[in-house]
Amino acid sequence: MNNLVLSLAPKFTKLQVLNLRQDTPQLQDDAIEMISNYCRDLQDLDLSKSFKLTDYSLYALAHGFPNLVRLNISGCSAFSDSALAYLARFCRKLKFLNLCGCVRGATDTALKALGYYCNQLQSVNLGWCEKIGDAGVTSLANGCPNLRALDLCGCVLITDESVIALATNCPHLRSLGLYYCQNITDRAMYSLAQSGVKNKREMWESMRNRYNGEGLVNLNISQCTALTPPAVQAVCDSFPALHTCPGRHSLIISGCLNLTSVHCACAVQAHRTFPAIAHPAH
Ligand SMILES: [Zn+2]
Repeated sequence: MNNLVLSLAPKFTKLQVLNLRQDTPQLQDDAIEMISNYCRDLQDLDLSKSFKLTDYSLYALAHGFPNLVRLNISGCSAFSDSALAYLARFCRKLKFLNLCGCVRGATDTALKALGYYCNQLQSVNLGWCEKIGDAGVTSLANGCPNLRALDLCGCVLITDESVIALATNCPHLRSLGLYYCQNITDRAMYSLAQSGVKNKREMWESMRNRYNGEGLVNLNISQCTALTPPAVQAVCDSFPALHTCPGRHSLIISGCLNLTSVHCACAVQAHRTFPAIAHPAH
């Protein structure tokens, strides 16, 4: 595969989308350098599971692709945080970034650079980046007000501060993954439930936006074992698109045995309409 990329890259100078996802890692830095030299219009690049790539590839990307919008480097575990921070300085048009499993590179240092330079980010996957803490997530939330999806699954260090920063600064957030973030408490849930609301006028604005399709549509709090039913119910009540019912299941609480009493509006409606169906004469 590496040789194929080396030979083809010079012939595809207008390429905009390139998927080099691999099951067996073969890509090496020289292939990325070749792409960076010839495919300058590239906007969407998938390099997931390229274990053999080193920081050298990120430097090549940084210089080759100022217009990159979408980058998937999930599972590229060799990249360092300084190289990721370097990439952020040059690829400022990034909107979609998948760093899932970049355990070594995705640190607070890298997130601070992303929050500072890449203000157009809309979707960031930081799954299992275990070194990330509140300082990094807060910087990202402050710098990226257009954030719509953030996956923090398995980011075991983050606390309520991260969620509060997101609830405060990212009004368009629609999907949030907090699987196994066991430091998260009810405080984070209440901040989400009240997000964007500082006064009465904003409260009405926020309610209207939520019924018009804004607001959380996916929330994964599986294994967040410190949460209690009233706080999670408040989030569920606040965002009409969150469901616990089997068909839709967009509020994911599996593994939280104490949250089985939390239900979406469907459960209440089903309870109300059932007697009407059972006794049509009334
Ligand atoms: Zn439902």
